[in-house]
Amino acid sequence: MAKTEVATDTYLVGIGVSPGISIGEINLLSHSASIDEWPIAEDEIAAELERFQWALQQAREQLLEIKASVSRKKHLREHLYILDTHLLILEDEMLVQGTEKEIQGGLNSEGALKRTLRKLRQMFENIEDEYLRDRSSDVDAVGSRLMRILTGENERSIADIGHKALVVAHDLSPAETMQMDREKVLGFVTDKGGQTSHTAILARSLEIPAVVGLETITSLVHDGLPAIIDGSNGIVILKPSEETFKEYLKRKQSYEYLEKELHGFRDLPAITTDNVRVTLRGNLEMASEFPVSRKHGTEGVGLYRTEFLYLGHNETPSEEEQIEAYREILTEMQPESVTIRTLDCGGDKIVSQLNVHDEANPAMGLRGIRFSLSEGNLFRTQLRAILRASVHGKVRIMFPMISGVVELQRSKRILREVQLELTRDGHAFDPDIEIGIMIETPSAVLLADVLAEQVDFFSIGTNDLIQYCLAVDRGNEHVAYLYEPLHPAILKALQMVCRAANNAGIDVCLCGEMAGEPIYALVLLGLGLHELSMNPGSIPRVKRVIRRLAKSDGEVLLQDLQQLQTAKEVSSHLDRKMRELLPDIFDQSLI
Ligand code: PEP
Ligand code: MG
Repeated sequence: MAKTEVATDTYLVGIGVSPGISIGEINLLSHSASIDEWPIAEDEIAAELERFQWALQQAREQLLEIKASVSRKKHLREHLYILDTHLLILEDEMLVQGTEKEIQGGLNSEGALKRTLRKLRQMFENIEDEYLRDRSSDVDAVGSRLMRILTGENERSIADIGHKALVVAHDLSPAETMQMDREKVLGFVTDKGGQTSHTAILARSLEIPAVVGLETITSLVHDGLPAIIDGSNGIVILKPSEETFKEYLKRKQSYEYLEKELHGFRDLPAITTDNVRVTLRGNLEMASEFPVSRKHGTEGVGLYRTEFLYLGHNETPSEEEQIEAYREILTEMQPESVTIRTLDCGGDKIVSQLNVHDEANPAMGLRGIRFSLSEGNLFRTQLRAILRASVHGKVRIMFPMISGVVELQRSKRILREVQLELTRDGHAFDPDIEIGIMIETPSAVLLADVLAEQVDFFSIGTNDLIQYCLAVDRGNEHVAYLYEPLHPAILKALQMVCRAANNAGIDVCLCGEMAGEPIYALVLLGLGLHELSMNPGSIPRVKRVIRRLAKSDGEVLLQDLQQLQTAKEVSSHLDRKMRELLPDIFDQSLI
């Protein structure tokens, strides 16, 4: 089908899954092909079944070949499990027997496979859990591989790209993404994809700018078309004008310059001009983030979101599996500490095999510690695993969504019982393990002085605290304008929590997204926060700012902000102050 001419400066908006800017010419790898189906005669069925089995065998061999080549690349070894998943999908009953049944019903292999894949896709679409839903991309990837083999369609392989290019594809499987040569693939965009697909995860760990979910880009572009990918903002510009090209070239240079400059902060301490040392830790979810967190100089992990061990699996992880995951992160972070948060499922983090109740108001429902307390065995298994892993490094345990003393005391009692059980069974663990809680609910703020007497540390989860204090759903775009981290009520809440922690002499950390925004650094210093935990990519940016600020200025600023009545006033005042103090940083948009 002939494509219509692309207009100059065609802007397309998708989901930016890996930051950075790339400029170049397009290499169109694949597009959504239409698959023909036709009926076959009774006496053709056996041969068609054999052809399908042959395709399965071919796909298996291809995957094993990719696996062998990937295992030679050290930085990709940890992703080998994706290929194992694809090998398992090739044996999946629903896929194999489903297709065979269609063939036996009198359909050619391509048509039979197409119908089976459609059924599987519909099943996945009905899954509520976003992570699991995104796993349908793995089934699609295996389906496309089989389809290519069956149709003999010679799609270009990503491994064969001979020159530097921007790759455009209908979809890219994780296996294809792993084969990317970083020297050749400047960036990639796809019609399909979501934020948590394996392809997106890999793009981030390979640090290749990427935009996914563009829906129809493959039908618009052709080989050699000039384009720009802005992975930070989820934008693709086709056929850029000279003016746009120059502007993005400048942005790209500034971005790369900033990245290099920021890399220089890797081994420097985050210390203010009046000598206050701030610890900058990482928020991590899975092992594939280790290389990025190392690169950015993470000082241990302030928040390990263990939900990701439960998401996307049919079974909850066993005690041994969890010990292994915790041992891995502890070994990686030695000698720094890792704060392991017990399962925080529910709310917007639905673990399909666990969150079985259909809740009318999940954010206020059975989530966080409430869920763990209602599932005693699951909670005990996790606590046993964390404690047993504590012999491999410095661990702290943290309970999420604590809303009062009773929840904390019940959690601590169960922890004590588990400790006794382990001692009885002869398992070693750190007997002095520190116990802390997330401060995420207004009731925990109001009771902070009482709670502070009963724990070793607080970690303020502003993502939830803001939503609960201001009664604004953090995921609802219609009320997003009300989600204001600088609301005077939030400043007051933060102050109450920090004061309570200081009075009790316990550590207090802030691990919500606020911690990773450089603009808030002075306010957080003024509050007396000396420990921040954030997505690792933000660490150098925040560190650069902290090293040029004085805590005493933060204290004065906070007093000024307390005189203001609206979030807008607070925000304007802070903006002005930061521009005045660090004009070279806050007058630019690249921070
Ligand atoms: C928070 O609520 O601020 C937090 C860090 O936890 P999560 O984002 O996982 O809910
Ligand atoms: Mg939270």
